[in-house]
Amino acid sequence: MLEKEFIDEMEEKLLEIKENIIKQFMAEDEDFKQLVGDMSIKDLADVAADDIGKRQLEALNQHEVKTLRLVESAISRIHNQKYGTCLSCGAKIPKERLNAIPYALLCISCKNGEEKNRRQGI
Ligand SMILES: [Zn+2]
Repeated sequence: MLEKEFIDEMEEKLLEIKENIIKQFMAEDEDFKQLVGDMSIKDLADVAADDIGKRQLEALNQHEVKTLRLVESAISRIHNQKYGTCLSCGAKIPKERLNAIPYALLCISCKNGEEKNRRQGI
């Protein structure tokens, strides 16, 4: 189990990443700006990536939308006390990895496996 302190720190980082992505969307996309209207940044943290996806704002950077989804999954895993365990095999994800990528949901070996599968077109 990770210490609460570490998890709090990661949650803060995750929210920061989310805010930055949303700010970037607002700067880049008129439709998105309209979607969020005059919400404060705090409310924006509640705008779900799914909502954004549903509205098919294709102008948005899909890589960022994907990151946003991962960030949300990570935050919900914090709330479910599952943060820091691999989504696929249940192994502990090392702190160093979480520090580098707070929204990492897979351990390194599962992540590598996923990439290998992708390369093989599975
Ligand atoms: Zn794993």
